[in-house]
Amino acid sequence: MPKVAVLPGDGIGREIIPEALKVLQAVLSDSPLKFEFANYLIGGAAIDAVGKALPADTLTACQEADAVLLGAIGGPKWDTLPAQERPELGALLPIRKELGLYSNIRPVKMIPSLISASTLKEDVVKNVDMVVIRELTGGIYFGEKGRQADPPAAYDVLLYTEDEIRRILELGFVTAQGRRKKLCSVDKANVLESSRFWREIAEDMAKTYPDVELTHMYVDNAAMQLVRYPEQFDVIVTENMFGDILTDLASMLGGSIGMLASASMNGKKGLYEPAHGSAPDIAGQNKANPLATILSAAMMLRYTFDLNHEADRIENAVARVLEQGYRTADLAKPGDQILGTREMGEAVIAAL
Ligand code: NAD
Repeated sequence: MPKVAVLPGDGIGREIIPEALKVLQAVLSDSPLKFEFANYLIGGAAIDAVGKALPADTLTACQEADAVLLGAIGGPKWDTLPAQERPELGALLPIRKELGLYSNIRPVKMIPSLISASTLKEDVVKNVDMVVIRELTGGIYFGEKGRQADPPAAYDVLLYTEDEIRRILELGFVTAQGRRKKLCSVDKANVLESSRFWREIAEDMAKTYPDVELTHMYVDNAAMQLVRYPEQFDVIVTENMFGDILTDLASMLGGSIGMLASASMNGKKGLYEPAHGSAPDIAGQNKANPLATILSAAMMLRYTFDLNHEADRIENAVARVLEQGYRTADLAKPGDQILGTREMGEAVIAAL
């Protein structure tokens, strides 16, 4: 029986996850596969209940599950805790590390009916259709870090092993093979030794993927090209910190952070979550946009369970609901009819 560990988390996580589960249950109702969905605590909710952002039973359940569906974690209530105990450092980074989730995949595709929600001009964003792949467990976020007293200073070490670079680049090449066959590897090879190493490996691997056109781009130029001419990109692959920044930038091309789904993978196993946070400013008000979470659930069906037909049905239902003019507050223009979180979930189910 396929097992999914469900972690609603904090803030709007507790409102958007139930909508994604309702959509999953509706789309899987005819499937011969009987899924098991079980809820576990994480983040601030777990700190309040058991004093730890990532309780042992949550971690065990995630290790035993085929996939994890996560809402969002964190909030002002826990911001004054010591850094290592807070929801983000205490749960998000450890869960990625423990599950070996070395890649983060974010598709960014313009849904035609949302063009006006983008902050960029229609001509620039109308054909955006890309996947951004970020390395997630290496590089400067995980390197040695420390302080020295005299003179006062701090350091973070950026280190990548050849194996770490090869496995993330491989995902980039394979993803490009399934799309328009263009892979752009983003680095800072004019300054960083780790980037020169990364580039050498990419060039070497390109010989194994002759059908994929490999290009390289410096990260500063990539930031500029993403807002200047984003439709040039098919698949972008990059290291952890550059990817952290570029994925947020790319998310705005599609209109709203409330639309952006994300998957963190280790082979077939994946943790699926919306790209946004717990939005404490609107939590508990039935205002959150559940579509990024619903689209993350569709990614789970596609990438972990190979249920492409069911994933297509969810993605098409989301597009249809938006074509019909339904909007949550974050997507709405003056005069639009605004739906709450639950009503948007219901609208997607009706459109399935
Ligand atoms: P955020 O993404 O939670 O919110 C930024 C803005 O976007 C807010 O105005 C919010 O109302 C809006 N927003 C976000 N998601 C939305 C949705 N689905 N529908 C409508 N509007 C939405 O980012 P933040 O304010 O920087 O962080 C809030 C908390 O979330 C912090 O504690 C932060 O650490 C945490 N966080 C968690 C994750 C995660 O769980 N993966 C990611 C980012 C931030």
